[in-house]
Amino acid sequence: MRAVLADLSVPRYLLTAVTPRAGRMLSLRDDVPAPELPDAPGWVLLRPELAGICGSDVAVAHAKSSVVLSAFYSARKQVLGHEIVAVDESTGERFAVDPVISCVHRGFEPCRSCRDGHPYVCERFDQPGVTGCQSPTQGFDAALGGGWGEYVVAHRSQLHPVGAIPSRRAVLAEPASIALHAALRWRRTGDRAVVIGPGTIGLLTVAALRRLHPGLDITVVGPGALRETTGADRALDSGPHVVEALAELHGGRVIRPRLTRVPILEQGVDVVFDCVARPQTIDLGLHLLRPTGTLVLVGGAGRQRVDWSLVWNRQLTVQGTVNSGPEEALGGRTTMSQIVEWLADPSYPVDGLVTHTFVLPEWREALAIASAGPPAVKVTLRPNPGLPLIA
Ligand SMILES: [Zn+2]
Repeated sequence: MRAVLADLSVPRYLLTAVTPRAGRMLSLRDDVPAPELPDAPGWVLLRPELAGICGSDVAVAHAKSSVVLSAFYSARKQVLGHEIVAVDESTGERFAVDPVISCVHRGFEPCRSCRDGHPYVCERFDQPGVTGCQSPTQGFDAALGGGWGEYVVAHRSQLHPVGAIPSRRAVLAEPASIALHAALRWRRTGDRAVVIGPGTIGLLTVAALRRLHPGLDITVVGPGALRETTGADRALDSGPHVVEALAELHGGRVIRPRLTRVPILEQGVDVVFDCVARPQTIDLGLHLLRPTGTLVLVGGAGRQRVDWSLVWNRQLTVQGTVNSGPEEALGGRTTMSQIVEWLADPSYPVDGLVTHTFVLPEWREALAIASAGPPAVKVTLRPNPGLPLIA
């Protein structure tokens, strides 16, 4: 089959040194073996209709993935693409694919995470089992194909029927689930939230917070033409001035450290969702939080130099989040089934987030645009141009 294949035979930390340009270990190939159904019931072969380019895919292309996490993402040949809307050609049914492969899919007795209803942090992400897939999520292993290829294999329990939801909304099911799962990691303790980074995940986090908490005051921080379209009360450019701006808006007090640049916001916000997770954004988030506030790390944080003094001094909580799955706060319902319901509702304001669509031979251009950020938001690939997109 035709697919964009990532060859990660060389350890990634070496690739960082020898391949400074993006995409050197990615290539478009026509000879990628089509994935085979695992030897277990419930698996289906699908054709991706549209697949997103995630920040994590961009990180792989730039050889910037975490060295620690290579313990889980150990497959040597990978078809990228885990944000997938796909068609079962035998029935014509369209699905959003939940990419998390857990114990039940790999044919194991559930581990403690899976038993407790947290398959998104399964303890067997490194063990292929019957799937042959050595990674936490779909599309990160040639064995199951991926969204950037003509075929992908998924288990029925991963599939969420999307009916006639337009392709450019349905393809947002996975990032929107990440965002809702992140929003649900915060147990509401107040009325003010900040979301840093109005890319796909940030904008979808705002949309989720708005649905969950209609009266919440939400400030978006960062660049982007769409930053006020998904339900934020206001948008601010990034930088230390955010502290003064929020103090003025909400009546907080600005306290200035003697030697550092970012002031502290006294009477700060209740929660910060950092969808970028670079040193400057983590630092800004910590300075914006009220004592006992929560920093939710939605972006993929790695090795970074951050002053953590405010975490202990103000008893802040730093909460990591990734993937999605059954949600206690939704009565055990999965994040994605809730999201698909929202996507079917035209008032869920995510039209326009897919800014670009390319066919596979244009993958380099697609990746370059996705890497550059705003004005691009969600860049998508169309692996099967023969399949019609639903408008
Ligand atoms: Zn498990």
